[in-house]
Amino acid sequence: MPVSRIKLLPDHVANQIAAGEVVQRPASVVKELMENALDAGANQIKLIVKDGGKTLIQVVDDGMGMNEIDARMAFERHATSKIAKAEDLFQLNTKGFRGEALASIAAVSHVELKTKPADTELGTYIKIEGSKIITQEPVATAKGTSVSVKNLFYNIPARRKFLKSIQVEMKHINNEFYRLALAHPEISFSLIHNGNVIYQLPKSNLLQRISNLFGNKLKEKLVPVNEETEYIKISGFIGKPEFAKLKRGEQYFFVNNRFVKSAYLHHALLSAYEGLIKEKSYPAYFVFFEIDPKHIDVNIHPTKTEIKFDDEQTVYSILKVAAKHSLGQFNLSPSMDFDAKPELDVPYDWHKKTPKLPEIKVDPDFNPFVENDDDFGLKGKTPKKYFEKKATYWENLIQNAQNQPDETIIHSGLDKQNDFIPGNNPLFNGAFQFQNKYIISQKDNHLLIVHQNRAHQLILYNELLQQIQNGHIPSQQLIFPVELKLNKPDVELIKNYEKNINKMGFEIEFEQNSAVLIKGIPPELKTAEITSIFEEIIRQLSMEAPVDPLQIEKKLAEIIAVQSAVKSGQKLEREEILKLLSDLFKQQNPAYSPKGKKIIINLKPDELERKFNT
Ligand code: ADP
Ligand code: MG
Repeated sequence: MPVSRIKLLPDHVANQIAAGEVVQRPASVVKELMENALDAGANQIKLIVKDGGKTLIQVVDDGMGMNEIDARMAFERHATSKIAKAEDLFQLNTKGFRGEALASIAAVSHVELKTKPADTELGTYIKIEGSKIITQEPVATAKGTSVSVKNLFYNIPARRKFLKSIQVEMKHINNEFYRLALAHPEISFSLIHNGNVIYQLPKSNLLQRISNLFGNKLKEKLVPVNEETEYIKISGFIGKPEFAKLKRGEQYFFVNNRFVKSAYLHHALLSAYEGLIKEKSYPAYFVFFEIDPKHIDVNIHPTKTEIKFDDEQTVYSILKVAAKHSLGQFNLSPSMDFDAKPELDVPYDWHKKTPKLPEIKVDPDFNPFVENDDDFGLKGKTPKKYFEKKATYWENLIQNAQNQPDETIIHSGLDKQNDFIPGNNPLFNGAFQFQNKYIISQKDNHLLIVHQNRAHQLILYNELLQQIQNGHIPSQQLIFPVELKLNKPDVELIKNYEKNINKMGFEIEFEQNSAVLIKGIPPELKTAEITSIFEEIIRQLSMEAPVDPLQIEKKLAEIIAVQSAVKSGQKLEREEILKLLSDLFKQQNPAYSPKGKKIIINLKPDELERKFNT
């Protein structure tokens, strides 16, 4: 008889495989446990985390709890109290419904459960390691459930190794925490990391929840959005156009109180801002949709953050119109203060006011995040004047250029082609700007096309690195320090890298209420750039979380260089063009920008010739 090759997988193996889908990182565990707590009708949910969740993730709730049979059953695959028949899938209002989260989590970690329903004296304690029940016994405990998950992926070393730094994992956990806390302002949440209380969020309304999470200032930058049709109801808040940021972050859509990602909805909302915000900047938004579950399919993605509506086009246009409407109306009223009436979500009589089309004027250079934007008092002045005043960098250039009458440059330049003298080079005399983006010139008999933005990035980058090698970059004191309002994890991140950041020429001070005060900046930088620089520093360091000081400093130098370099589209004066070219060719490798992008295209005469002959 042939040996059967098909075998049923043992349960613990099946669970490990399922775990791969459900549990990607500590944040996925956080999401599943917190959703279970919400489904259990909790009023208070506490999330306790150690080492970015790598050591411990614990969720404590005061919900309905489980009796001892259910407690044991909860760890079986496809155990769920939430669906009894297939039709239930379409009517789903609870968070999870696949009944495999706890089984999957227990397959790849050490789990301890304590749970008690309101009507029993004693609760149940269960300890499981890698799907194996180690202990089950009665325990004295409060009503509700506590699940703690330790040593995630302890039995799958390849996955454990794949976990990122504590900061990165914590960032993901924070994201899940934000999403659930925003969706449920009526429930109090707390988050404790390594013994520190990061958030303690009391029951409140949505707007207060938003400010408890993202700082008090954010709510002044929001306007309410409300629309109700038979098909869908929209509510929430969207950012005023002038506060749009370059960084994505505070953008949230919820459908039936479940966070969803949707490029489609994002596009719809952004289309309402057309002409009001700069390209590549994003308004904050917290938008809630309520819709009959039969019109949506939430189960198209294993982590359930994507969604499909049966009538996407309608949703698109309703959202767009609702947002336009709010932006138009907000023009009537300069600011909102919700502190005065905390019991109301929307203290203004928005609907009674006659709608007015948006006519917001936006200054494209205005940086809304900088309160004391002195910018050397040069905003709107000609680039030449600007550079003169900002002498630190361009001083030499102007001197050089002024000392050389145009005539001499032209002639000496054309005659000698190979003796390139850095800093004072006549060869680039024919240089000019094309589309305010490229510099066209010639060198060593080649036709050069130089990407001005990338060229300047490289020059600044190398200069910064050079300065760091020699010690540290001098700090330019600000007369009016700039205050940044950050959320707590971002403050933590800045604290972690404080030394390195200071070495780059910044001087920072930490204030209460998670504000960071910028008192000094590297001389290259403009005050107006501070906020975007810090947004970028936070974004990049939280993604990569480098630990080697040299790597960190290189990253910081790159960010500063990229932010402060001459932009594409910026008109340059003649002497600036020349300076840029001569500085570029002083670099050891002028070909590539710090991000590895091509800086120069050059054409040899014979290549040119060939182009004419094809
Ligand atoms: P699902 O949530 O998809 O049903 P889970 O594996 O997450 O599947 O949970 C299995 C079951 O365990 C749930 O259906 C619920 O009955 C029970 N359960 C899990 N967590 C809790 C909790 N915090 N409080 C009460 N019951 C819970
Ligand atoms: Mg669940």
